[in-house]
Amino acid sequence: MTDPLNHSYYAATAHPWRSSYDMGEDLSFDIAVIGGGFTGLSAALACAERGFSVILIERAHVGFGASGRNGGQLIPGLRWSASELEAEFGGERAEALFDLCWRGNRVKARIAKHGIDCDLKAGHLEAAWTPKDFGAMQREAEFLATRFGYHSNVVAKQDMPGHIASSLYHGGIHDPQGGHFHPLNYAIGLARAAEAAGVCIWEGERVHRITDTPEGAGVMTDRAHIAARYVIDATDSWIGDLEPDLGRYTVPIMNYNIATEPLPNADALLPSDAAVADSRFVLNYFRLSADKRLIFGGGERYSQTPPRDIAAFVRPFMAEVFPQIAGAKIDYGWGGAVAVTMNRLPHIGRRGNVFFAYGFSGHGALVTTLAGELIAEAMAGTAERFDVLANLPSRPFPGGKWLRQPLATLGLLYYAMKDRLG
Ligand SMILES: Cc1cc2nc3c(=O)[nH]c(=O)nc-3n(C[C@H](O)[C@H](O)[C@H](O)COP(=O)(O)OP(=O)(O)OC[C@H]3O[C@@H](n4cnc5c(N)ncnc54)[C@H](O)[C@@H]3O)c2cc1C
Repeated sequence: MTDPLNHSYYAATAHPWRSSYDMGEDLSFDIAVIGGGFTGLSAALACAERGFSVILIERAHVGFGASGRNGGQLIPGLRWSASELEAEFGGERAEALFDLCWRGNRVKARIAKHGIDCDLKAGHLEAAWTPKDFGAMQREAEFLATRFGYHSNVVAKQDMPGHIASSLYHGGIHDPQGGHFHPLNYAIGLARAAEAAGVCIWEGERVHRITDTPEGAGVMTDRAHIAARYVIDATDSWIGDLEPDLGRYTVPIMNYNIATEPLPNADALLPSDAAVADSRFVLNYFRLSADKRLIFGGGERYSQTPPRDIAAFVRPFMAEVFPQIAGAKIDYGWGGAVAVTMNRLPHIGRRGNVFFAYGFSGHGALVTTLAGELIAEAMAGTAERFDVLANLPSRPFPGGKWLRQPLATLGLLYYAMKDRLG
């Protein structure tokens, strides 16, 4: 399955790998995982490590979805700040969330354990679009340090050139615990590890129905019925295709990335080699690739129709941040759907024998690996940590099948406009 939106730097530099599995005789497993992104791969690997027999079914290829197309920014935490979580949920729950989502960097642990070659670099910078944003960042850094002993570096406006050659920003927070990586090669590394642990990875096969009866669960694919004790639905922005009710909790927002040609002056653009995301509502995010390209994501489209020329769509955002490379040659342009929930917190849970985790709202590169592992832990009988995420509140978007996207779009346009007006 090919996708014209996936003319990506990642696809062009992916380590060659294809699953060796084809439909076997025995189609009965302990666990059937749907979706070969970070969530599904991590869950499958963690389940196999616990001794379960596992099949993972992916309709295209491993990393085909958001996991193989994202900005590669590893940002500790969730879309809410730690102080917002504490104000909303109280100290005990905030501590549990902090331990999991800030302290527990499972991506780094997986990369180290399996020797995954995915250009991992340390350092993430959140850049303040306005002085007010910088004030809020300073308060949050102080809160994280005093409340949780979590230390990041406040970067004053005059010190920003140490991180970024752009005059646009009013300061920032540099978090050495964050970082960036080649997301598709990470997904491929997880797939390799999962296969080595015994997971059957079935690529190019679509699941079109999940069954869950008192006798057991299962999935119907285009060619087979697979029986399983548990099913894990890790289809993220496609979840509504399989479970329309769960589809009500997210809307897909299209987001686009470009990669320039390798730049002779790349290190001067981002001297500390941190990944950068700014504080605009429709944010810009960027970083350097291992071969010194600028990978830049900017602008969102609320229509599902992609721009005719992705490079032309994203270039003005890049030129605003870095006018010095406004005319740089752009070698790749690609896009993908970000599954966004109403409150920007992921929707994780269990219905009968079906577990699910999706809607990471643009903040999934780190937390998806954790979510997959927590699902495996819960299946093995210890649901305490899974429940910390499963108990996050979630609400469906208003409007039925046809009105949900336009209504969500209206809300998002409002915030995007506020951003522009400053
Ligand atoms: C352009 C873009 C930039 C982003 N940038 C960042 C970033 O810099 N940092 C960050 O933290 N997050 C970022 N995100 C979000 C992050 O990529 C996601 O949260 C994360 O990858 C979700 O992983 P997943 O495994 O849950 O879903 P996916 O990676 O989307 O995987 C779902 C898989 O399910 C498969 N599938 C769907 N339906 C079926 C079916 N019926 N049968 C079989 N298979 C099926 C799909 O083919 C797909 O491979 C970005 C997202 C996008 C789109």
